[in-house]
Amino acid sequence: MSKANRVGVELNRTTDWVARSLQSVWHPCTQMQHHAGADAVPLIPVSHGRGAWLFDTEGKRYLDGISSWWVNLFGHANPRINAALKDQLDKLEHAMLAGFTHEPVIRLSEKLSSLTGGVLGHCFYASDGASATEISLKMSFHFWRNSGQPEKQEFICLKGSYHGETIGALAVTDVALFRDAYGPLLNHAHVVASPDARQALRGESAADVARHAAADLESCLQERAGKIAAVIIEPLVQCATGMAMHDPEYLRLVRALCDKYQVHLIADEIAVGCGRTGTFFACESAAIWPDFVCLSKGISGGYLPLSLVMTRDEIYQGFYDTDVRRGFLHSHSYTGNPLACRAALATLEIFESDDVLIQNRLKAASITKALQPLAQHEQVRNFRQQGMIWAFDAVVDDAAASHFSRQFFTTALKHELLLRPIGNTVYLMPPYILNDKEISDLGKSTLSVFNQVIAGMSVTTTGITA
Ligand SMILES: *Cc1c(COP(=O)(O)O)cnc(C)c1O
Repeated sequence: MSKANRVGVELNRTTDWVARSLQSVWHPCTQMQHHAGADAVPLIPVSHGRGAWLFDTEGKRYLDGISSWWVNLFGHANPRINAALKDQLDKLEHAMLAGFTHEPVIRLSEKLSSLTGGVLGHCFYASDGASATEISLKMSFHFWRNSGQPEKQEFICLKGSYHGETIGALAVTDVALFRDAYGPLLNHAHVVASPDARQALRGESAADVARHAAADLESCLQERAGKIAAVIIEPLVQCATGMAMHDPEYLRLVRALCDKYQVHLIADEIAVGCGRTGTFFACESAAIWPDFVCLSKGISGGYLPLSLVMTRDEIYQGFYDTDVRRGFLHSHSYTGNPLACRAALATLEIFESDDVLIQNRLKAASITKALQPLAQHEQVRNFRQQGMIWAFDAVVDDAAASHFSRQFFTTALKHELLLRPIGNTVYLMPPYILNDKEISDLGKSTLSVFNQVIAGMSVTTTGITA
């Protein structure tokens, strides 16, 4: 059937959905050719989800070990979030947020602010994480401009940082694979050392690495603080670069340096917020508050695109004026969407009513236990954990890392498991609702997949097969 004849026709066989998707959908973060040919990476047509599981159109199921790209917290088709959304749907699906307001956005802003003890008193809304990054950068720059320091125009980010893929966010992103093609379009930021604890030399602690990294930041600030608007960091775990974890000491040191040199601290908690690292905001692990917090991903429970930037009242006041141009005139059409805010409120209610942060500590301990055979595995380095994130590095040649990650993804699917390594780093970031059986299956399946893929790799690298 030609593409034109097929439009709108419903076909039920999986192969048809896959073929039609490949004909018409441009999938994200994907070299589309990898879905074609003999060695093709499978494309899974999802029909429905329930709890930690996704089901495909042929009835196969997959344990969502990465929370559908780090967004899902309380499972797919969660009855409580569903009920809240159904209720909201009959009241108000959307209204513009300039000149209008509504209950879900008010309650969500109040609730989030109260979680910071009122330190971050205002929330500004958008839809995607990258937009939250853009907003925080613009707000920081504009605040300094309104304060008579328009020369503060530059940003500092960390080695291996990831803050999203729009042009402004890419400028503070240091992942070559995502950034390099667009280099000429970007307003480059200063890149300083990462506190990644894996860099510890013999006899050094993670806190030592944090101190070295902070010293590198300080030398950049000594030289350029007068031109720097903000430092942007991913607190505790730099996820996209491969789950690089650091000591909370780094957050304390960066906070002190930002105060000393009068630059803003932006905490991108898009991936690490919402309880992922053990506290609701990752910064709480160091008992510091940044000047801006970006949230997205888990905040809506993984239901709807929602992002936001929280900031201090002093910063908000820097825009409060009779002059319209001193205001923050940024907007997105769906800013503060009531459905997305209602999903977020339902998510926060679950945190409270189920004591999620405390329950997660118990779950995390059992997941760590279930992963012990991997932690001890000869072919594994740097087994690490922070809250509800686990990661380890497979001992494979750098050149083979992308082959490893694709093989792992494909093999995992055959074991009813959704895991998508980043290069040679395998990580787990499951939803917060796994039961004991799911936890033990997750441990066992991850180990089987790993053994199978590693066995295949050594054969390949010794040249026995191509
Ligand atoms: C995912 C992510 C973003 C970008 O969010 P999108 O919704 O994908 O635009 C930004 N920063 C961090 C730390 C992220 O993990």
